[in-house]
Amino acid sequence: MPCNPRYEILFEPMRIGPVTAPNRFYQVPHASGMTNALPRVRAAFREAKAEGGWGVICTGACSIDPSSDDAPLPFATMWDDNDIRAHALMTEAVHRHGALAGVELWHGGASVMNRTSRLPPLSPSGIPWMATHVGFMGNLRPKTMDKADIKEVLRCQAEAARKARTAGFDVVYVYAGMGYLGYEFLLPEYNHRTDEYGGPIENRVRFVREMIEVTKDAVGKDCGVALRVSLEELRGRPGRNQPSEAHELIELIADLPDLFDVKMDSSPTDCSASRFTGEGSHEPVIDFVKSLTKKPVVGVGRFTSPDTMVSQIRRGVLDFIGGARPSIADPFLPAKIREGREAEIRECIGCNICISSWHDGVPVRCTQNPTAGEEWRRGWHPERVERADAAERILIVGGGPAGLECALTLGRRGHEVMLADSSRSFGGRLTFEKTLPGLSAWNRVVDYRLGRLEEMSNVSLYPESRLSADEIIALAPDRVVLATGARWTDMLYSSLEIPVGRLDRPDVLTPDDIAGGRLPQGPTLVFDFDNYYMGGVLTEHLAAQGIPVSYVTPAGQASAWTIMTNELPLVHRALARRKVAVTTLHILKSFDGETATLVHLFTSEETRVACRSVVIVGLRLPRGELFEALTERADELAATGIRSVDRIGDALAPGAIAHAVHSGHKLAREIGTNVRWQPYRRDTPIVDAVADFDMRTAAE
Ligand code: ADP
Ligand code: SF4
Repeated sequence: MPCNPRYEILFEPMRIGPVTAPNRFYQVPHASGMTNALPRVRAAFREAKAEGGWGVICTGACSIDPSSDDAPLPFATMWDDNDIRAHALMTEAVHRHGALAGVELWHGGASVMNRTSRLPPLSPSGIPWMATHVGFMGNLRPKTMDKADIKEVLRCQAEAARKARTAGFDVVYVYAGMGYLGYEFLLPEYNHRTDEYGGPIENRVRFVREMIEVTKDAVGKDCGVALRVSLEELRGRPGRNQPSEAHELIELIADLPDLFDVKMDSSPTDCSASRFTGEGSHEPVIDFVKSLTKKPVVGVGRFTSPDTMVSQIRRGVLDFIGGARPSIADPFLPAKIREGREAEIRECIGCNICISSWHDGVPVRCTQNPTAGEEWRRGWHPERVERADAAERILIVGGGPAGLECALTLGRRGHEVMLADSSRSFGGRLTFEKTLPGLSAWNRVVDYRLGRLEEMSNVSLYPESRLSADEIIALAPDRVVLATGARWTDMLYSSLEIPVGRLDRPDVLTPDDIAGGRLPQGPTLVFDFDNYYMGGVLTEHLAAQGIPVSYVTPAGQASAWTIMTNELPLVHRALARRKVAVTTLHILKSFDGETATLVHLFTSEETRVACRSVVIVGLRLPRGELFEALTERADELAATGIRSVDRIGDALAPGAIAHAVHSGHKLAREIGTNVRWQPYRRDTPIVDAVADFDMRTAAE
């Protein structure tokens, strides 16, 4: 189908200094968790987006010098010739599809702990970022940069820019955002200097200006030079001649970079989850930039709707449509718009599982796109699957995220698929979870898959079909896949942090009871040791219905794991808004219908709380009955011609929706093939030469 004429503006070529992007789709720098240690994994991950039509594809943060070392968090480097070769794999891959390759050169300043390099972190005035979360906390405070340090960082930036050009990059970044070094010079909290780099905004911008100038001197004839800058804090500060210091900053350097990449200041606001923030949330902070510069501007906002994208351009907010998460969830988003296939866009759901991968220090994972990070090591293309040698009749029992993804991929492989679910509508756990506060966008996992399945003639959908082992055997498919999900249990929790014993009472509920329409009566205590979203969101849900509710967890924070998805501060804010009392570091010991007894995890001190109901959000176990019933009848299965019975998703190992989708996709790719139990390909760093370091020379 042709492109909708309304969207043609998105496909106009755009200049960035000396280079030209083929269109306005710009994959802004974002963490991939891949580092230079996985160069082929990284190149293939970025290449998928170039193939899918993104006009500019950037790396994530790429350190210019060992004094910027974020280990154990994953980051790329541009330190030596091996790095050039590692990055060249990506630039070549991106160029194969006519896109530009950008590199986010980066110095972390005081926000990195240099745990590997053991160099003192650098900062304008010795002011650290005092993070409170274990993963980010450190106890090495930064040194104050003297003039020689500033000169050295400028030299490293120029040298890294030259290396980037050699590696084939077309766009080279200066980074002044997200608490990193350039940003620290811009903010008076970090910058207490009394020399020409501190004081009024004209002085505070000097370091960033010099970083841009040295980059332009180094590579400006061949590469576009982009400035990535966070504007949230500065926008909140009144300026002397302009509405804010952010305005003054842009005015001062309006003609200097070839492109402005504008964003928010901290991960939770910059990359906020859909649970708390909608599409286009950056606009009120960055909307003024284009009025002060003629240079192109790129920004993000989890844009997945082409109408919103066009509106950003027509209203003069942005020139390029920036995407990080939308490009992970659907690398082929631009191609689908160009080909009039908008309905097929696999829209990002804003769950931030991708961010959690970075916090975990591993290659990116995505709930919507199970192939993200698997392009090279498992050979999974985001849009294409291999046809099966012979079509088989495959019955999938359970139409939640795992079953839906498995059905879609098996259908694309040419199998005859029957998907049955006991419920009236498909979606599994999401049928309830999409109704919880802030989670409606998560149903895109279901919408996308169901939409495609309904178009496929080789897939039959059977809602309201609870299947027993007898019925499955009677259907006599070639293969059976069980995607029957998991159950929440009423298990308690020991001080050894192990689920132990049940609290089996009629006034004790689990999320399944609430999903089934039961509500707790009277003052309710939610005990959460699952630690992801369910405990917090269910508490919000109950409070919203006027139920007096308190929240207890053995963890240090409410929904503690959501620190990984940038949601944790906002979970606490949401609970506070609902006036929910939050008790941390406590275990629920007992409940008699009137009083819950809590025990402090470390001191064993007991506290009593009056309540009439308890909701336990703790251990989930697979719904395993059907699998057990079928495997007990192996002879009958063989006699009927059923070749295999597999489990996927929560029925195999309960997890997040991302795990279920990946599990369903993996089985569908591998069923009936001999790659099924083979491990993935292992990537290796590119090492041409290891620089010799002579200790004697160093000592002299
Ligand atoms: P996952 O996240 O692994 O996809 P879900 O819990 O979301 O798991 O979905 C499991 C689905 O399986 C639910 O919709 C449930 O109704 C369905 N289901 C469970 N047992 C049966 C059964 N015996 N027959 C048909 N559907 C079933
Ligand atoms: Fe979007 Fe979630 Fe995928 Fe991240 S993991 S790209 S937030 S769907």
